[in-house]
Amino acid sequence: MRKAAREMLRKVWTGLALVTIVGALSGCGTTKTTATKATATSSQKTTKTQTKRQKLISALPKGVKSTDSDLVVVNEWHKHSEMTFDKSSVNGIAVRSSIVKPLEAFIAGAKKAGYPATIVSGYRSVAYQQEVWDQSIQTYENQGKTAKEALKLTKEYVAVPRASEHETGLAADIMNTTWYNNHGNQLLSSSDKAKGQQWLINHAADYGFVLRFTKAGEKSTGIDYESWHFRYVGKASAQFMTKHNLTLEQYVSLLQAREKANK
Ligand SMILES: [Zn+2]
Repeated sequence: MRKAAREMLRKVWTGLALVTIVGALSGCGTTKTTATKATATSSQKTTKTQTKRQKLISALPKGVKSTDSDLVVVNEWHKHSEMTFDKSSVNGIAVRSSIVKPLEAFIAGAKKAGYPATIVSGYRSVAYQQEVWDQSIQTYENQGKTAKEALKLTKEYVAVPRASEHETGLAADIMNTTWYNNHGNQLLSSSDKAKGQQWLINHAADYGFVLRFTKAGEKSTGIDYESWHFRYVGKASAQFMTKHNLTLEQYVSLLQAREKANK
């Protein structure tokens, strides 16, 4: 029921040209022997994780810095005010001018492979996101929901203003055109069953993009899996993140660790 309602709501929102981002924020010791053993295993695990992290840090692409503008992290824990940058449009969708070429190449690549793609959404201002947010709260309240309920429901379907990656101009929602048209212009994770969407996901890094909200990364990003939301990070970073299955949050944290160590 909840899922059905969610899908329906998605449809409504998409119809209103509002793209939904669903934020998901969402034994005891007995004998001494066991306790000692458990501690040893746990410390082995920690060491293993640390070694893996060290290996990743030393393999990071050269010349990339955590402060590079392409790597800006915007999420519920890292909010931003309105950002200033040049904007241009690709297929009628506004994005940061610096990503026009790679985005055009990505779309052209998909088309050449036999999978035409549609850019559904790009840059959105903080002001616009706020408007969407306020409208949603108002709509729920008009339906008789309490302020608390309206906030909870809105949070489920609308990105918190100042926390949406679309505000960076570096993100684009991209769908396989055929699938998108055959599914009432909805953004649904099940689109990843379509070969054309898989092509986008599997080739994004060649053009400097990553699928930003992966299944494995839900805890790290705070956002449910989205098979359509691509984020530009630059080719070297995209390839590294994809190869090692890292979210932008995790990747930037590794870069910061390298910078700290080199100080
Ligand atoms: Zn998006």
